[in-house]
Amino acid sequence: MHPTTPRIAELAAPADWRVVDFISDLHLQASEPQTVQAWADYLAHTRADAIFMLGDLFEVWVGDDALTAAADDDEACFEARCAALLQQASRQRTLYFLHGNRDFLFGPAAARACGLTLLDDPTVLTFGGQRWLLAHGDALCLDDTDYLQFRAEVRSAGWQQAFLARPLAERRAIAAGLRGQSEARKHSGAVYADVDAGAAQAWLQAADARRLIHGHTHRPADHGLGSDLQRHVLSDWDAAATPTRAEVLRLQLGPDGVQMQRLPLAQIRQAG
Ligand code: MN
Repeated sequence: MHPTTPRIAELAAPADWRVVDFISDLHLQASEPQTVQAWADYLAHTRADAIFMLGDLFEVWVGDDALTAAADDDEACFEARCAALLQQASRQRTLYFLHGNRDFLFGPAAARACGLTLLDDPTVLTFGGQRWLLAHGDALCLDDTDYLQFRAEVRSAGWQQAFLARPLAERRAIAAGLRGQSEARKHSGAVYADVDAGAAQAWLQAADARRLIHGHTHRPADHGLGSDLQRHVLSDWDAAATPTRAEVLRLQLGPDGVQMQRLPLAQIRQAG
């Protein structure tokens, strides 16, 4: 087994699901209202039986207490508004969420408030007689060694307890500092690591799956990995960009089996 292969969780789709949507990397934040609105439109119009949000739904999540912070905290208002939209959507369809590298502190209390189910990364979904391996994708970018070291640290219970014990305002300030570093790196023209093909193959083999669906890299594409294995990369969302980026990867079960489509948001607004 490949050294990076983690434990793989299992989820079986109920027999009545026909349409399943996958989105990721919306990086929702109060300062980007157009993307928040696009996402709200999507939640209101999709006809999917289930929506899988595969990480970095939020630009940052500094703790579930952000949802219950004083009403005069503008940022808390943003988080509470997103939670209300999710809660409303959860009455029509099943919502799943898997952590990204920005929102890994999204916890069980937030999941309850938003009406969604937290998934382990990775999870293999059985749908339409096939096994689909779902991941955020960050743990597969093996060349990003500094980040993987940071990831191991911040995913530890000790680090999380210590961080969450800090006052909310201090946590927001730390997150803003990290975000500033990340923006500076982006603008310096740094080349970002991509998913390691060998690790992706190993995860698929360990999951007894042929198709991997993930986000994180913001490089939407379908890649063959050899031996009939495939990697499907989700788009990030930016509704203020030209052209707009707001794409949904959809699996639809029909008489001929499962069809995969990449749908721009405009199409979902019209047809569901
Ligand atoms: Mn990410």
